[in-house]
Amino acid sequence: MEQTYIMIKPDGVQRGLVGAIIARFETKGFYLRGMKMMSVTKEHAEKHYADLSSKPFFGDLVDYMCSGPVVCMVWEGKEVVKTGRKIIGATNPLASEPGTIRGDYCIELGRNVIHGSDAVDSAKHEIGLWFPEGVSE
Ligand code: ATP
Ligand code: MG
Repeated sequence: MEQTYIMIKPDGVQRGLVGAIIARFETKGFYLRGMKMMSVTKEHAEKHYADLSSKPFFGDLVDYMCSGPVVCMVWEGKEVVKTGRKIIGATNPLASEPGTIRGDYCIELGRNVIHGSDAVDSAKHEIGLWFPEGVSE
């Protein structure tokens, strides 16, 4: 079954949005296969966002991801990658539809609460990067 990597970013954890975010994926019907809270090193954040390393905001993005603990999750279900991105909403919270996580909980592009893999291939790569120990069957 398809899996995706979802991560509650430091602002989402600090603002107490963990339960609300989990509820959205759970009540949709997806299955939680792995979850842990961790602090992120600069090297690990740089690896996760390696595709964006040439962007002018890359340094700020890495600092943001290291500014506090994150909650790392693997969610599973039918078309969970694409549907997870819909639940999350557009990258810029000012363009995210109300009813999406970013549309309901934030206003800053650089503090947009949550990450979701953008394709099945990148989901596999990200799950390997964040859960090298593997997840439950
Ligand atoms: P994520 O990968 O975190 O789920 P995304 O796939 O919607 O977000 P990406 O293009 O992968 O968007 O950008 C990764 C993150 O980098 C964004 O979520 C946002 O926090 C930050 N970001 C993207 N574009 C900008 C920008 N122009 N200025 C500042 N930060 C940005
Ligand atoms: Mg992305």
